[in-house]
Amino acid sequence: MPGPPNEQQIKEDLVKACKVLFKCGVADLTGHISYKLGDNRFLIKPRAVNWLTLTADDLVVIDSNGGVEGGVAGGEPPEIEWPIHVGVYQARKDVTSVLHAHPPDSTLVAGLGIKFEPLTRELYFYGDGVPVYRSIDNLVHENAQIKTMPRAKEMAAVLGQNPALILLYHGTVVAADTIGGVVVSSYILERAASSMLKAAATGKPSPMVDPMLQEAMATNSNATPLGLPNVVAERWEMLKAYYL
Ligand SMILES: [Zn+2]
Repeated sequence: MPGPPNEQQIKEDLVKACKVLFKCGVADLTGHISYKLGDNRFLIKPRAVNWLTLTADDLVVIDSNGGVEGGVAGGEPPEIEWPIHVGVYQARKDVTSVLHAHPPDSTLVAGLGIKFEPLTRELYFYGDGVPVYRSIDNLVHENAQIKTMPRAKEMAAVLGQNPALILLYHGTVVAADTIGGVVVSSYILERAASSMLKAAATGKPSPMVDPMLQEAMATNSNATPLGLPNVVAERWEMLKAYYL
């Protein structure tokens, strides 16, 4: 039986995640993904390197104050919004990987105030909806960023036990117990949001949810993007095969 992954394997998995997230349209120019190596050690993609060509050696390790292990030239933080990651890890002991990205459709759905309806399989996974973190200064880009721990704590409280959160007019935060889980969950979320935008564009009023479907969702504990670990692992393998 294989033992727990070593640091090098984790780095390589994180690199694959970055490439898949870019190629499937979840990640773009900015954003970051991290992995919890320990209570005070977090592996993170630095902002200066792009999602597609970064290597395992480009990843950096930060502590829970955003300090970089081994230091960094000029003392620049590897990513200004590092508190997003630390905030989620401190609030959620079940989480080992966190993504912050700006997928357009997920962000737009929240900005337009469109509610998720279980109209497709992907939307069914997000049947309980996706919490939205908003604050009065969200509209100003500079302030929309989560650069302090008090702000990150507030955001993590809104995330609660959910697999994902939308930062209003800004992007998403996705958390899971594996790197693959984060990729699969964000992939499903963006597809769900795309379907919901198409549904809203038809101009039809928000449909009534079939009572049978409501009941099925209430009793099906696997009706989430991360319901069954073996299925998540299988889907992560598929996404790697499709996009790498
Ligand atoms: Zn951002």
